Amino acid sequence: MQPLLSFSDVCYSYHTLKGEIPAIRNITFSLQEKEFLALVGPSGCGKSTLLNLTAGLLQPDSGQILYQGKPLTLCSFSTGYMLQKDHLLGWQTVLDNILLGPKIRGVPMDAAKKEALHMLEKYQLRRYAGVYPDQLSGGMRQRVALIRTMINAPSLLLLDEPFSALDYQTRLDVGNDICQIIRQENKTAILVTHDLAEAITLADHVLVLSKAPSHIAFDCLLNFAAPDLTPLDKRSQPEFQTYFNILWRHLHETDG
Ligand code: ADP
Ligand code: MG
Repeated sequence: MQPLLSFSDVCYSYHTLKGEIPAIRNITFSLQEKEFLALVGPSGCGKSTLLNLTAGLLQPDSGQILYQGKPLTLCSFSTGYMLQKDHLLGWQTVLDNILLGPKIRGVPMDAAKKEALHMLEKYQLRRYAGVYPDQLSGGMRQRVALIRTMINAPSLLLLDEPFSALDYQTRLDVGNDICQIIRQENKTAILVTHDLAEAITLADHVLVLSKAPSHIAFDCLLNFAAPDLTPLDKRSQPEFQTYFNILWRHLHETDG
């Protein structure tokens, strides 16, 4: 099957006044439609650079990035980007924050509003439609940020450490909820995280990156024997510990 996205031997360096800073080198991987890929690696290893190349915001120095078999450009497809900060507008209600994208795209407001309320209902946030973001918990804000991204029907979701500002308990709950939303909406996603357990429980496929300029130190497809496990369920499965040990070893070999 043709992958949705493929990187072949991609290299990228930043050019600054102080000289060239190589960020990634010879990155090769592919992503199938509806797959959930996690990128893990030490801080500064080039994970965000890889996402920006995927979004078409940066162009590789060498190598090739294909989307549905064709060279990727900024207009190849629609990406939804979710970051550590939710960037909700404090002076707009939850509903108006969600409607921002459809408004900019000129979508008829009645239909967009119906869809937004439907999504809020589906993800247990309907009663917060009229409140302002500062009245929500950090976890709720991240769920609203995801709905705001989803309503624009992106073909690919790029999640750059979206849970790192949350406390541990909230992080587990929100990771669980967000993973279920992404799976229910049949989205293809790339998650950047430095939390191995998060990568193993949320994704189907993990790439371990070496320190900068990064290459792929290990490429691992995850497979849990029991069907329909939530990320929280996966933590108590025997495969979880096995994957954790393997990936931990590769992650630490990249430090050496
Ligand atoms: P990560 O997301 O894994 O923490 P980044 O992709 O942000 O890493 O950065 C990879 C490397 O590229 C780092 O060495 C970083 O300092 C460098 N870098 C990132 N952005 C820029 C930039 N705009 N200009 C110069 N160097 C950059
Ligand atoms: Mg980063």
